[in-house]
Amino acid sequence: MPSENRSDILIFGAGPAGLSASIWLARFLYDVVVIDSGDPRNWKTQEIHGFLGAERARPREIRHLGRQACRRYGVTLVDHHATTVERIDADDFRVRTDQAEIFRAPRVLIATGIQDNWPQIPGLEECYGTTVHTCPNCDGLESRGTPTAVIGSRKNAAIVALALKTWTDQILICTNGQTPRIDEPTEQALERMEIEINDSPIAFLDGRDRLLRAIRFENGEVAVCEHLFIAMGQHARDNDVSIQLGCKHDEIGRVMVDSFHRTSVENVFAAGDITPGAQLAIRAAAGGAEAALSIHHSLIPEERRVHRRC
Ligand SMILES: Cc1cc2nc3c(=O)[nH]c(=O)nc-3n(C[C@H](O)[C@H](O)[C@H](O)COP(=O)(O)OP(=O)(O)OC[C@H]3O[C@@H](n4cnc5c(N)ncnc54)[C@H](O)[C@@H]3O)c2cc1C
Repeated sequence: MPSENRSDILIFGAGPAGLSASIWLARFLYDVVVIDSGDPRNWKTQEIHGFLGAERARPREIRHLGRQACRRYGVTLVDHHATTVERIDADDFRVRTDQAEIFRAPRVLIATGIQDNWPQIPGLEECYGTTVHTCPNCDGLESRGTPTAVIGSRKNAAIVALALKTWTDQILICTNGQTPRIDEPTEQALERMEIEINDSPIAFLDGRDRLLRAIRFENGEVAVCEHLFIAMGQHARDNDVSIQLGCKHDEIGRVMVDSFHRTSVENVFAAGDITPGAQLAIRAAAGGAEAALSIHHSLIPEERRVHRRC
C-alpha cells in the first residue's frame, strides 16, 4: 500500500493559474502540493504577448520562473498526472497519480487548462505556435496586413474572422470540406466585411521553416496565406479532475465558478482557462491569485473571523 502525502492544499496544473496560486498560498504559510503533467496547450507558442513584465517571453520561461519561485517558498512540485480524485468528505480529498503516489488535502484547486479541437491537416503541426494560432486576441497583431485564414465551419470561425479585421483585410474562412453552419445575421456580417468561405477539403499546408506560405486544397486550388487561426471549438481533458469531482460545467466543459473561484463542490476551487472567461496568461495568473485568497479565507479558523455588518 503506497504511503499517503498529506498537505493543506492540492493544486492540479502548474500553468500560470496553478503556479500563481501556489506562490500566494505558500505566502500564507500553507503546505502546498502542485501536481502537473507538463502538457499545457500553449507549449509550442514562440512568445506570450501582453504578460506585464514578461512581454514576448516563451511559455516555458514564465513557467520556469514560476517554478523557481515556488521552490523558494517551499511548494512541493510533483511532475505526475493526477489520474483519480475522490472526495472522502467535505474536508478531505484523495488523489492518486500515474506514478501510484497518493496525496490528501482538505482543499483542492483545479487549474488544468483546456484543450483545442484540432484538425488533421498535414503541415499544420510544423507551423503551430509561429504562424498557426488559436487566439486572435493573443496573436492577431502578428497577422497584420497579411493574407490570413481561419479554419472552422461554425459561427465561432466567423467570429474569429470578424475579430481579425482589426489587423488585416485579407481573410478567408476554410471549412475543410465541412458544410458551413453559420446563421444568417453572421453570414451577412461576413458579406459586409468581404470575408469569403471556401468549403473545399484541404490537402496540406505549404510552409517552410515554420512560416506558412499557402493552403493547398485537394481540388488543386491554392490560397496564399501567411497566418492561420484554428477556430474549431474546445473541450475539457478526458476524465478531467473536475469531472471526477462532480463540478458543474458549461457546454464545452469549463468549470463554473462564482466570483470567489468556488466551484459547485464545497472546498473545490478553480482558476485559469478551465473556467469561463478570456483565455489569457495574465488572467490565468490573476485568477490563481484570487483563488488562493479565497482558499485561505475558507481555512481561517472561526475564532479569528469578524463578521461585517450589512
Ligand atoms: C497557441 C497559443 C498561444 C497563446 N498566446 C497567448 C498570448 O500571446 N498571450 C496570452 O496572454 N495568452 C496566450 N495564450 C493563452 C495562455 O497560454 C493560457 O491562457 C494560459 O496558459 C492558461 O493557463 P492555465 O494555468 O489555466 O492552463 P495551462 O497553462 O494550460 O496549464 C494547465 C496545466 O495543467 C496540467 N494538467 C492538466 N490535467 C492534469 C492532471 N490531471 N494532472 C496533472 N496536471 C494536469 C497540464 O499539463 C498543464 O501543464 C495562448 C494559448 C495558445 C494555445
